[in-house]
Amino acid sequence: MQATTQLLHSIPVDPQTGAIAVPIYQTSTFVQEAPGVNRGFDYSRTNNPTRQELEKIVAKLENGAVGAAFASGLAAIDAVIKLLESGDEIIAVDDIYGGAFRLFEKVYRKFGITATYVDTTDLSAINRAITAKTKLIWLETPTNPTLKISDIRAIAAIANRYKLLLAVDNTFASPALQQPLNLGADIVVHSATKYIGGHSDVIAGLVVTKGPELGTQIKFYQNACGAVLGPFDSFLLIRGLETLHLRLAQHSRNALQIALYLQSHPLVEKVNYPGLESHPQHAIAAQQQSSFGGVVSFSLKTDTEAAATTLVTNTRLFQLAESLGGVKSLISHSAAMTHKTIDRAARHRAGVKDSLVRLSVGLEDVQDLINDLDTALTIVSATSETATKKKLAHS
Ligand SMILES: *Cc1c(COP(=O)(O)O)cnc(C)c1O
Repeated sequence: MQATTQLLHSIPVDPQTGAIAVPIYQTSTFVQEAPGVNRGFDYSRTNNPTRQELEKIVAKLENGAVGAAFASGLAAIDAVIKLLESGDEIIAVDDIYGGAFRLFEKVYRKFGITATYVDTTDLSAINRAITAKTKLIWLETPTNPTLKISDIRAIAAIANRYKLLLAVDNTFASPALQQPLNLGADIVVHSATKYIGGHSDVIAGLVVTKGPELGTQIKFYQNACGAVLGPFDSFLLIRGLETLHLRLAQHSRNALQIALYLQSHPLVEKVNYPGLESHPQHAIAAQQQSSFGGVVSFSLKTDTEAAATTLVTNTRLFQLAESLGGVKSLISHSAAMTHKTIDRAARHRAGVKDSLVRLSVGLEDVQDLINDLDTALTIVSATSETATKKKLAHS
């Protein structure tokens, strides 16, 4: 059976009423027949029927033993780091999501859990960074915003050799395109706010573990720390999942067309998209992903923040906003938005140029999206010509 069919039919019909949609059990507590005698639910922080269905569906989709739903992607990441102890070290991808970096540096460092950041596209760099205290390798692939690809299978082999945990933040690919547990990872994490929710209307996070023991630990921290996903938001994720494969196929088709268009545009310096043959890890992406996803980033030949600002304020269909993964296209300027708190030199080292613009390509008609970018790029061109003429007139 194909993944889409399997997913749709892993969403159960309500045995009590025949409801084809999973009911929203908007309740905090459950009446017990006698103390401790209940029907599998006693309090909704610990377990809730709507959340439980979501967790089962996602565990199956990622081919893991246990799923756990959290109030945000960061709460999901937080639950994974709680598996560690003071003195443990994390090896993390250097192009890491800013919120995860803040969590590691501003929260966990003071509890004695430290992270080193390495270019995980370079396997020897990972090997060199391992110490006797290393416990966890933290990957994101593709990364944000430069879409670097790490070889999950090869890194799982390293983790295995040194008895380390391998966790993969699978937000950018989604389980429709990439299944890290099948490639040897122990834990997969999602900001379900993005592609799993898919409609820019919910903040949520998910953890799936390959084995039941790790799953028991994650479920313990979920209940003990309490950052659980509510029943209504759980329902929204289930509804999002129903169209996950369909959406990701179209996001990917649109994104590839747009990447090709940008690559041939005279004002564009470089396009980052793992689906392009020019992408340095295109072959690995083609091997471990079934398609290349909906995020594209690019820099301009006029590498200035001003040029990027002109671009992102002159698109009409691509709306200026942080986040990604929704049905409507979004555009953002990394240096001024998601990466504002990182100093310029460090930003440049991470490949985030002053003019780097990130697109979350939505489900609009692709020709309309290309026309929108084309109009905005023409304005960028006209603006910089005017600026050059002014400069010449003054000199
Ligand atoms: C957005 C995002 C997160 C954080 O998720 P929230 O739902 O915003 O807490 C983590 N990782 C990646 C790759 C993200 O894009």
